[in-house]
Amino acid sequence: MAKSAKEQRKAKVIEVLNKARAMELMAITQYMNQHYNLDDMDYGDMAAKIKLIAIDEMRHAEMFAERIKEINGEPTVEPAAKSTKGQDVQTIFSFDSKLEDDTIDAYNQFLLVCRENGDSISVKLFETIIDEEQIHFNYFDNVRDHIEKLGETYLAQIAGTSSATGLGTQGFVARQAAGQA
Ligand code: FE
Ligand code: FE
Repeated sequence: MAKSAKEQRKAKVIEVLNKARAMELMAITQYMNQHYNLDDMDYGDMAAKIKLIAIDEMRHAEMFAERIKEINGEPTVEPAAKSTKGQDVQTIFSFDSKLEDDTIDAYNQFLLVCRENGDSISVKLFETIIDEEQIHFNYFDNVRDHIEKLGETYLAQIAGTSSATGLGTQGFVARQAAGQA
């Protein structure tokens, strides 16, 4: 049976929400990999910040999944692309600036699809997440700029800094130990 106009609109929204979710899944593994690399290279402060950004991306992947489920879609488990391993510090920050910039551009296009198809809740979701991607972009681009202009002088200031995020252990096991799960 042919889909109703309403079902067709919903399908278009689910499609862009899943495209966005796939981009988040890629970003999570990419940033986790960079976090380990930066930690190995002893750039602790950068490692900590990228770990926190990976956690933001996991939150985004969950937010998209929740909305997809709400409108009876199936959240994808496939990342948009494979992550790249073994990037050096200069590469990491130009790669990530571009990734966030491309993400903001794509999400603005996806937001328009949601608007055209009458889903104002998904429009708001994209607006919220775009604001957060802009904060990520600003951080990556700022560091990229420092590395480009100051090079080793800047990197020497980061070497040996702490990789602590200030977060305690989180997740099911920690909650259960605290008697909260
Ligand atoms: Fe994100
Ligand atoms: Fe981001």
